[in-house]
Amino acid sequence: MGPVGARHCEGRAVVDITVVEVSPRDGLQNESVVLPTDAKVSLVQRLVDAGTSRIEAVSFAHPKLVPAMADAEEVMAGVPRVDGVSYAGLILNRRGLERALGTGIDEVNVVVGVSDTFSRRNQNVSSDEAMDAAGDVVAAARAEGLFTTLTLATSFGCPFEGEISPDRVLAYAERGAALGPDELCLADTIGVGTPNQVRTFTTRMRTEIGTTPVLRYHFHNTRGTGIANAYAALLDGVTVLDASAGGIGGCPFAPNATGNIATDDLVYLLDRMGLESGIDLERLMPTSAFLAVQLGHEVPALLPRAGNFPPA
Ligand code: ZN
Repeated sequence: MGPVGARHCEGRAVVDITVVEVSPRDGLQNESVVLPTDAKVSLVQRLVDAGTSRIEAVSFAHPKLVPAMADAEEVMAGVPRVDGVSYAGLILNRRGLERALGTGIDEVNVVVGVSDTFSRRNQNVSSDEAMDAAGDVVAAARAEGLFTTLTLATSFGCPFEGEISPDRVLAYAERGAALGPDELCLADTIGVGTPNQVRTFTTRMRTEIGTTPVLRYHFHNTRGTGIANAYAALLDGVTVLDASAGGIGGCPFAPNATGNIATDDLVYLLDRMGLESGIDLERLMPTSAFLAVQLGHEVPALLPRAGNFPPA
């Protein structure tokens, strides 16, 4: 495989690949069971204990829109504050940022849907209006000294419009990059992407936008291509990937779908490729059993079923 870039220090451990853990937010938000606050805090504690350095812990979407995340302030008040562990909150608008600022959040993840229909259904604004709002949020968050990520949702396909033109995604990526976020994340919100799309996006992002902001990907395993997509990103030197412990979550547009790519399975791949993530699989894997009990169903991650290799 090609170079994966210089090792960079994320505070806790020197890592090759940063896994952004999204189970407390994207995972739990898309489960039918709403966990009590203390279980959410316990999940975050387990993730921190396993060596996770970046955790998307909460969403500051309106509680009526996302009831499962209504206790964002309480969750943030309960999470362990550990050197080198950074907590992110998902933000849709300035009002969400105002809520987030009081909670000790380290990062904000601002979302713009590149499909107009998705953006209107999800945020009640067009893609252009969402991008304008994101500009305000990124500027305000940067002024507060927060790390900022701009996520382009539905970059690989839309549940309402179907195919999304890569040119359209790149145009929004260019506008998004001009807002000055630290990261730009291309999200396969509904899990339809394939590795060839990933490689094309990675190449085009490099040649048409450059290496700033840092490119990050968010994959779902809805149709079984999630880990293949992660591998495609790794081949071209991408260093930041989202994943959720146990692979929990789902997709609001596909009721029976599984969730994000499983952190367990991604870290197994990274370990076997000799890429350091700072996450200890032996400590992470029991989280799947914890989540299965909390959610009342088996979780999609494969590694905890089969066991690590070679055995510890
Ligand atoms: Zn997602």
